[in-house]
Amino acid sequence: MRIAIAVLFVGLYVGGAAWGIDVAGASGISPWYPPAGLSLALVILLGPRWAPLIVVGDLAQWAIVGHRGDLPLATAFALVQAGIFAGAGVLLRRLLQAEPPLARLNDVGIFGAIGVVATPLLAAVAVIGLDVAFGELPADAFAEQIRVFFIGDAVAIVAFTPALLTAGAWVQGVSLRAASPSAAGFGVNDALMGLSVILLPPSLIAAFDDRLLFISLLPLAWVALRRGLPAATFAVAAWATVAVVAVAVWDIGLRLVEMQSFVLAGGALALASGAVVSERERGRARLAYLALHDDVTGLPNRHRLMLALTDALAREERRSVAILVVQLRGLRQILAGVGREALDELLAVIADRLRSVTGPDATLARLSPSRFVVMLDGPSARRAETIADRALTELSAPAELDGREFTLDASIGVAYGAREHGPDGVLARADAATARAASQTGSRRVLFDATLEEEARQRRELERQLRRAIDDEALELHFQPIVDLDSSVVLDAEALARWSPDGAAIPPTVFIEIAEQTGLILRLGRWVLREACRQAAAWPTSAGRPVSVSVNVSPMQLQDAGFVDDVRRALGEAGLPASRLRIEVTESILLDDLETALSRLAALRALGVTAMLDDFGTGYSSLSWVQRLPVTTLKIDRSFVAGVADREIDRAIVAATLGLARALHLETVAEGVEDERQRDVLRQLGCARMQGFLVARPMPGDAFLVWLERYDTRMSA
Ligand code: C2E
Ligand code: MG
Ligand code: MG
Repeated sequence: MRIAIAVLFVGLYVGGAAWGIDVAGASGISPWYPPAGLSLALVILLGPRWAPLIVVGDLAQWAIVGHRGDLPLATAFALVQAGIFAGAGVLLRRLLQAEPPLARLNDVGIFGAIGVVATPLLAAVAVIGLDVAFGELPADAFAEQIRVFFIGDAVAIVAFTPALLTAGAWVQGVSLRAASPSAAGFGVNDALMGLSVILLPPSLIAAFDDRLLFISLLPLAWVALRRGLPAATFAVAAWATVAVVAVAVWDIGLRLVEMQSFVLAGGALALASGAVVSERERGRARLAYLALHDDVTGLPNRHRLMLALTDALAREERRSVAILVVQLRGLRQILAGVGREALDELLAVIADRLRSVTGPDATLARLSPSRFVVMLDGPSARRAETIADRALTELSAPAELDGREFTLDASIGVAYGAREHGPDGVLARADAATARAASQTGSRRVLFDATLEEEARQRRELERQLRRAIDDEALELHFQPIVDLDSSVVLDAEALARWSPDGAAIPPTVFIEIAEQTGLILRLGRWVLREACRQAAAWPTSAGRPVSVSVNVSPMQLQDAGFVDDVRRALGEAGLPASRLRIEVTESILLDDLETALSRLAALRALGVTAMLDDFGTGYSSLSWVQRLPVTTLKIDRSFVAGVADREIDRAIVAATLGLARALHLETVAEGVEDERQRDVLRQLGCARMQGFLVARPMPGDAFLVWLERYDTRMSA
């Protein structure tokens, strides 16, 4: 398809040139001019990689012009225009690579300005220069050229934009109307304007005083740059109206060559702008979709669920809204056993099974890799407990994947909605019920009741306080050194978040989980990054080596589109070299949108930031995945290190992990080393680095600085 378009476009160049010369010969005016928009449309439709093709097409065209007529002039023209299009290509490349694509304000306007005004303006300036240099073009031929440039492009954009805008959107696979009301409105405006131009006799549009035309275009350029393409289109329309009226006074016949230029230049320009608009709208539609949906299952995400719940609560009657939180366990083992694609299939099966018991009017959402939520709204809500029980039965049936059978462990918490609790409150209640369901031995289904009230209240209170603490930057970072097992040199320090509202410390596992469940982790994580980089920038070297800082990153952060920019900004603000920042991720990133996670890690790597795999080996070992992850280091989980000196099995696991790491050329850090026996066994097994209370406990930034200096002096003594 793309190749066909490319051939067509180059064909237009060459054929257009040949035809233009014939027409020019017959009518005694200057030859055909390459339409500005055509070239830009090519770049947009086919991607920046194809930009050189424009230059090729342009050169080919002018070679033909030269072959049939004036060779030096044609060559000069070709070079000037190739330069102009190459420049426009560079600009477009930058616009198209902005993430999300073309999100920059007014880029469509800038594009319109290039297409409608800037290119012919530049070309006209070049023509004047050439005219003087060669002294070959008589004054009226020059005037003719200018007119073809300007009237051709401007009138044609008005006449052909609507059709080609739609065609552009169609080529891009987007319905313009569905994609954007504003784009559709833009099309309708143009259709009306285009129609009026088409309905007027063509002779009216034929000629106009060239100098006046030239000057009148300058305000258009300004409008296009300042206000965007829709405004520029209006301006062109207004300008064309003036032109038409003025032409009517002189009433000169429309020549074929102008018509040709109208069609190709304007049409292509409109096609290109259609492509830009639709590409941009598609990016936007995708973002809007992602903002409300889980990428793996396509189910609504937390945000969308909360919108629905808010709605439902607004017209709530007794027991007419119920929330079921379904917590699954064992997904990681399944991931390790069958891999990512099969797991995605399983998630779809889970969604289907839930759907089969909840009925079509339920809202089914996925809030985290292993947490599904069902909102029952209406009559079915009264049967919420029965539905939850049936869902448990459905989910407990084994699922077959890759010829193997898997059973899932599910717990469900149920809470009824009440307006006064608010959407967050209702969800927190269901969560509290789920937590109890997951921890107790008997029934896997728990209905929220008064005994859970206190737990839910505390949880919400914590959430509120945490939100405020993040706003006020009232968290703290502690640092724990990571040292080389042989030389004892400090290589790294892990930044660990600390939070003590009213003086009482809340364990990070508790508040990080709240932050992850509520989405606060994005802001918390951004603060941790900034703060860790800021402090690390002031650390002295240890034994002559710089000490890097490692920061824990949650899966949700890695999924966030702004994450790489956050990292870049944190490094830039602190003036910390990228090589001194490492991030720690856990295997749970594998349960998220994996491609995204991998591409973020690769982008960080390109910045110079390396990643470590934290808590390696916990619960399951997806060994096959380790080599696919762009990490440089495995951190062996504390639970194995704890038993490494005494328990055969732990020692075997650690030895196996070290073997794996060696085979994959990965570094290793043993976490949670508390005594010398553990250290000695680790050293004997060939582990390179360690972290743990034996070296130092996590400590505040200033204490860490003091510790580092003392440690260094002791080392060198
Ligand atoms: P982690 O990343 O595995 O961090 C290591 C944990 O082990 C820390 O717990 C540390 O205090 C503890 N530890 C270190 N050496 C020893 C030892 O010798 N013995 C024992 N018993 N424990 C040791 P902490 O600070 O409670 O953090 C718990 C978890 O919370 C971290 O586990 C990490 O997953 C998470 N976390 C902490 N700060 C952040 C953060 O800023 N962002 C994110 N996303 N997670 C964080
Ligand atoms: Mg860590
Ligand atoms: Mg760890």
